[in-house]
Amino acid sequence: MNQKTLITSLLFLSFIFSATAQEIIAHRGYWKTDGSAQNSIAALMKADAIKAYGSEVDIWLSSDGVPVVNHDADVTLDGKKLLVQETPFATLRKMKLANGEPLPTVEEYLDAFEKCKNTKLIIEFKTHRTKEREDELAQKVIDMVHERGLQNRVEYISFGINFVAQVIKLDANAPVYYLNGDLSPRVIKSMGAFGIDYHHNVLKKNPQWVKESHDLGLKVNVWTVNSTEDINKMIDLNVDFITTDEPLLTEELINKRK
Ligand code: MG
Repeated sequence: MNQKTLITSLLFLSFIFSATAQEIIAHRGYWKTDGSAQNSIAALMKADAIKAYGSEVDIWLSSDGVPVVNHDADVTLDGKKLLVQETPFATLRKMKLANGEPLPTVEEYLDAFEKCKNTKLIIEFKTHRTKEREDELAQKVIDMVHERGLQNRVEYISFGINFVAQVIKLDANAPVYYLNGDLSPRVIKSMGAFGIDYHHNVLKKNPQWVKESHDLGLKVNVWTVNSTEDINKMIDLNVDFITTDEPLLTEELINKRK
């Protein structure tokens, strides 16, 4: 092999390795399938069964200090809307998910997650009314993850800058991403976060943020990408992770590029 061929081969190889395929994160677990429901334990186990890179889940702190799984800020019980963060766990427990499971605690979710073989758990801290409540939730959940020795299999995301700061303070090695879309990669880097996790419209408006992130050593995740057109656009942008309600479609579209 002469020198020119060698250099060409090395350049080709470095291109192949720099353009690695996207990883898939099942948004609220893999829930668009029989027997599943958003943020259910079944959705987590099904995300594991399809070998998603990650299974995302949303969490809150009940009024009496129990970390619980739910997406919305409120639940409707007996026709009444109750704010999750202002309701005791015993009341929240009466809520049933669409697949019949009771509203899970984070503890139960982690118990189930310990049995997963493939997926990581992507925990979204929902923003609360006070910093004190947020700090309590972050501390409790990170302690639970560490007690179980799961710290290499859990990542964190939040719209709340306080949560991002708390994760960095409590576990400097934990991957944590910011969701709100309003901060440049340079600012995210200076905060010590792992990367950006922005809505696909934010990345369409600021496509240069993908390369800027990569140049800074940050990762790029994007939510919640469900249509063929949008998934293809995000693959073209060379993001690292795609968070989606359609993990199988996303996998198919990623595999077409290989
Ligand atoms: Mg979420």
